[in-house]
Amino acid sequence: MSIVQVALDVPLPRTFDYRTTDATAEDVGRLVLVPFGPSRRVGVIVGLSQTSRVEPERLRAVLRIVRSRPPLPPETLDLCRFCSRYYHHPLGEVLLSALPTALRRAHGTSLSAPVFFRLTAAGAARAGEALPRSAVARRALLDRLQAAGTLADSDIRGASARRALRALLAAGWVSSSDQPAHESGTPEPAEPASGVEAGPRLTCGQAAAVDVIKASLGGFQTVLLQGITGSGKTEVYLRVLETALAAGGQALLLVPEINLTPQLEARLAERFGAARLVTLHSGLAEGERLTRWDRAASGRAGIVAGTRLAVFTPLPRLAVVIVDEEHDASYKQQEGLRYHARDLAVFLGRQRGVPVVLGSATPSLETYRQAEAGRYRRLTLETRASGQPPAVRILDVHGMVLDNGLSPALAGALADNLARGEQSLLFLNRRGYAPTLLCPACGWVAPCHRCSARLTVHVPGRRLRCHLCGHHEAVPSACPACGSQDLRALGEGTQRLEQVLAARLPAARVVRIDRDATRRRGAFRALRDRIDANDVDVLVGTQMLAKGHDFPNLTLVGVLGADLGLMAADFRAEERLFALLLQVAGRAGRGDRPGQVLVQTAYPAHPLFAALQAQDYDGFARGQLAARQASGFPPFLHQALLRAEAPDEHTVFNFLGEAARRAGPLPDGLVVYDPVPASPARVAGRWRGQLLVQCAARGPLHRLLDVWLPRLPEHRVHWSIDVDPVEV
Ligand code: ADP
Ligand code: ZN
Ligand code: ZN
Repeated sequence: MSIVQVALDVPLPRTFDYRTTDATAEDVGRLVLVPFGPSRRVGVIVGLSQTSRVEPERLRAVLRIVRSRPPLPPETLDLCRFCSRYYHHPLGEVLLSALPTALRRAHGTSLSAPVFFRLTAAGAARAGEALPRSAVARRALLDRLQAAGTLADSDIRGASARRALRALLAAGWVSSSDQPAHESGTPEPAEPASGVEAGPRLTCGQAAAVDVIKASLGGFQTVLLQGITGSGKTEVYLRVLETALAAGGQALLLVPEINLTPQLEARLAERFGAARLVTLHSGLAEGERLTRWDRAASGRAGIVAGTRLAVFTPLPRLAVVIVDEEHDASYKQQEGLRYHARDLAVFLGRQRGVPVVLGSATPSLETYRQAEAGRYRRLTLETRASGQPPAVRILDVHGMVLDNGLSPALAGALADNLARGEQSLLFLNRRGYAPTLLCPACGWVAPCHRCSARLTVHVPGRRLRCHLCGHHEAVPSACPACGSQDLRALGEGTQRLEQVLAARLPAARVVRIDRDATRRRGAFRALRDRIDANDVDVLVGTQMLAKGHDFPNLTLVGVLGADLGLMAADFRAEERLFALLLQVAGRAGRGDRPGQVLVQTAYPAHPLFAALQAQDYDGFARGQLAARQASGFPPFLHQALLRAEAPDEHTVFNFLGEAARRAGPLPDGLVVYDPVPASPARVAGRWRGQLLVQCAARGPLHRLLDVWLPRLPEHRVHWSIDVDPVEV
């Protein structure tokens, strides 16, 4: 008999021992079905042993080891172990959240290999044909199969979809298999050179950066590629990929946002051919995600591009890791396992002995400091690949009465740009129509009854919406406090701006791009296509527009509400605001025509705006770092945040108070602060508080967490630990 150590998706910081008769070292990394309490669970075998601390008669037996699939490779297990240790999160939860969902499902009582469906040749040939009107469900399923390639059994839900599936199987249009894709085991053949783009002549800066990175292939090194917006960082990545692929390697390319993947996917496919590429993001059907994961894990896909979760993909021939827009906050997961994909990417590079390229026009101050200290190699791109950086002007609107948020100067520039037939962007980082509904008679402001937040007025359906918890209700016809019928929507959101522009510039084609306008699948892409086709004159949008997009026809960027970001309490607020503004500004003038950027502010003397006008990220970053060093903030210190939430405030603070006491006598340099309310203090009916732990060195901080977290009191709170928090 031998014993397997199994990591399970349960919130306990340990593995579980099970009996088995036939497990071998080959099974480490395999999925396994085991009994757990009264139920059954899927886990991952992380080790074998001959002995257990559990008495032999109490050891339960493994139900089944899944040998129809390859095990997770040891490197991926090690990455997950590191992640578990560093973020103080149970290994089982780390491992199982790293796996595609299709693998995690314990189907009923047995872990049968998941079943996958694809169109047969007959199905593909006839997928475009008209079906009778009664065949809506069959049509829909055919369309989905055609779009996704593969669907897992678990992707096809609902009685009518299941009926349609049976009909299509019976007709021979769809086939089933226990493999998501047909395995071949060998790398995808290189595309013939014809049909694959060669790429432009590199600028001097690009060529130098490419040379350095290529020379670093084959060993671990972290490179900061700091290139101004439009300097052609992507082109540098592509050249590095080319070399890595030509040598038979695989590349991992992380991007911050799912909306950026189609544009990138198109560019990569154009250069390398679609067959060598997979993209991975949370928007994929389960079956398709597993198919792609398998193509990466078997080494057949050369390029794996994806959002933060892609960092866990097994890549047997990994040669280089690239993190685009490395400063982006979305690399940090903000719930459950709070990992930072950029930091894991650096671990991965060291583990696998491959270079890691961190690209950004506005590097995070953490990364910037590493470069200043010489631990990361800094490469800079100081000119645009074509054209000039935009001219930035700061508009002082202090004391001005604005017309729906627009200053005369910005309104005039917009009209001029429209008259020239050029595209403009108005940036306002606040969705909805207005952030406040106010009763001027008594001062009442519409609150969310579940959160410490105001409700935002939304035009469609005249609703009040809470941006924290999603609660919505009708706009009241009278003030609930005093009965006055004169309620006012105060302040500007993107919906109001869109309306105002449509009224002021009737000839302009105005589109709004924010979370509301792009919620529907494919909506963002459709808007992007219109922008590219020059079918849009004015874009109104939130920070969704700031991220890495290349809009070649855009020549004017106007920034409203820049001051919103100045008021935040978080010590990173300025860093975030500056990066955001510089990124938005960088959308202007990326084509042949020069760009201009107008930024409205009531605080034109704030040093941030001087740096923005000069587009001087280095000056800004050095100033911020000096201030943080002087007053003791990251990256000069390391932090962990104990977060707690519960339905009532007392429970939260009793827990945090007791937790602080149990931290015990602290070694020199470690500080545990008093519990404070989180910001916002209440979300969806739950009160939230936090406790900050800080130390100049990582070692003592992690040692404290190791002994402290198991000692936390058993209160009825939901708590979590956030190592290297980005929002405090
Ligand atoms: P970044 O990511 O640095 O902001 P991009 O990689 O999006 O910049 O490049 C900006 C634009 O410049 C793109 O349209 C790209 O096709 C173009 N470009 C990049 N490199 C070159 C080059 N060497 N010559 C001409 N155009 C280039
Ligand atoms: Zn709410
Ligand atoms: Zn009132």
